[in-house]
Amino acid sequence: MYQYSRAIYRSIKDLIDPYADQQTQLASRREVLAACENTMERLAKDPLYFAKPHRALFEDIRRYFPITAQAQVAWAVQEGVTAAVTFIEEQVEAGALDGGAARCRATTRKGKPCQRTPLPEREYCPSHQHLETRVAA
Ligand SMILES: [Zn+2]
Repeated sequence: MYQYSRAIYRSIKDLIDPYADQQTQLASRREVLAACENTMERLAKDPLYFAKPHRALFEDIRRYFPITAQAQVAWAVQEGVTAAVTFIEEQVEAGALDGGAARCRATTRKGKPCQRTPLPEREYCPSHQHLETRVAA
C-alpha cells in the first residue's frame, strides 16, 4: 500500500504552499506524507467500511496547499486513492485478504508471521521483498 501513498505524495508535494518558509514547507510535506500513509493504512485494514477515503484524505491535507492548487490536489488524491481501492478490491475478490488486510508471507526473526502489508501484487512487504526475489531466481 505504501506504493500508493508515495505515489499520491509525489504527485502533490510540489504544490505545497510555495510561499511558506523552508521550515514550514518541510513540516507540511511531512504532514502530507503522514496523512497519505494513514489513509492507506486505514484503507488496507478496513477496506469495506472506509467510505469516501479520497474525500477524507483531501480534507486532511487541503490546508497545506494554496487555493490555486486545490483542484489539482483533489484530482491527484482521487486518482491515487481510486487506484489503491481498485487494488484492494481485486485482493478481496482473489480471497487474498485475511481479516481485512493482506499480510506479508514472511516470518519475523521472533518466529511470528510478519504483519505488514505486502507490496502491490507481491506476497511480501518492503522489508521482506528480497525473499520473493530469491524464490523467483
Ligand atoms: Zn514482511
